[in-house]
Amino acid sequence: MNNLYNYSLSKLEDHMLSIGQKKYRATQLFKWIYEKRVDDFDLMSDISLKFREDLKNNYCLIKPKIYTKQISSDGTIKLLLELEDGNKIETVLMRYNYGNVACVSSEVGCNMGCAFCASGLLKKKRELTVSELIGQILVLDDLLKLEDESKRVTHVVVMGTGEPFDNYDNVLDFIRILNHPHGLAIGARHITVSTCGIVPRIYDYAKEGLQINLAISLHAPNDALRNRIMAINHTYPLDELMKAVKYYEKEANRRVTFEYILLKDINDTPECAKELVKLIKGTLAYVNLIPFNPVKELKFARSSETNVHRFLDILMKNGVTATIRKEFGTDIDAACGQLRAKNEKHEL
Ligand code: SAH
Repeated sequence: MNNLYNYSLSKLEDHMLSIGQKKYRATQLFKWIYEKRVDDFDLMSDISLKFREDLKNNYCLIKPKIYTKQISSDGTIKLLLELEDGNKIETVLMRYNYGNVACVSSEVGCNMGCAFCASGLLKKKRELTVSELIGQILVLDDLLKLEDESKRVTHVVVMGTGEPFDNYDNVLDFIRILNHPHGLAIGARHITVSTCGIVPRIYDYAKEGLQINLAISLHAPNDALRNRIMAINHTYPLDELMKAVKYYEKEANRRVTFEYILLKDINDTPECAKELVKLIKGTLAYVNLIPFNPVKELKFARSSETNVHRFLDILMKNGVTATIRKEFGTDIDAACGQLRAKNEKHEL
């Protein structure tokens, strides 16, 4: 069976033409699926009975299933979703004052091997399909709807398990569905993709002409330190990364956000802060300081409040715009990949 959630609108148009249907069928289906959230072909009343039969025989609309659900005292929802092949992925909903933010996974496991990250404890099994990407939002929307008929996911960050630029084509089609007026109609400025720095894909992304936010996981101000904590730096060192960022800023006319996790005594010193200022000079970038989420299996520690604020002060005094990321769901296995890692262990 062919899952219709796998198609962006333009791919669905091509597909309709390829099966001898009219192109407008794609928009018709998109409106049913995403605007009206109908997943029963029998209810699609403006589609001819004959084509509805065809749809029922050859197509499906399948979303991931909720395997476990945790709700934090601050309202954060953390789901472990089960995919059709039994693999499991994490999806989180955070409630900011400006909206409901979904943090989605892009792959089952991750091969980027960042030393501080729980996701990488489980190696990549495979990339997620478009239906598994968009399905994460649809499942969260179903839960929000139970709270209040008008509630929806309003913002999406691709910052869950996996490297989105290692699953580039599917992540881009996912974004196209999120952003399309007949899709989920989420504004481009409300969508953020985060990469550990796969340089060739940053160039590709710059040329897509999308207004989607780009975040770069930087986490260190020099190659020696970045090599130690982020394996990707051996392939794409900082000078190449910074060149790509500058290209993106010019080509896409957007600024990037640099994410910087503060790890105690590793990258949180005043020297690191000063080096960071130098490194990103000449970019329009903005820095998001991330308090490290301790991971039991890993030996890193969280920076003290004093060190975090000292770091922030140095950036600000040197004209770098920076903020400290708000934390959610700290009582429910909040760090990336923790919930899945815990469950897999139970199952082994
Ligand atoms: N692969 C992508 C997206 C997933 S990670 C990337 O690297 O950007 C999303 C963000 O969470 C990254 O900035 C990542 O470095 C950060 N992160 C990973 N482990 C963390 C932890 N234990 N505490 C806080 N942030 C973490």
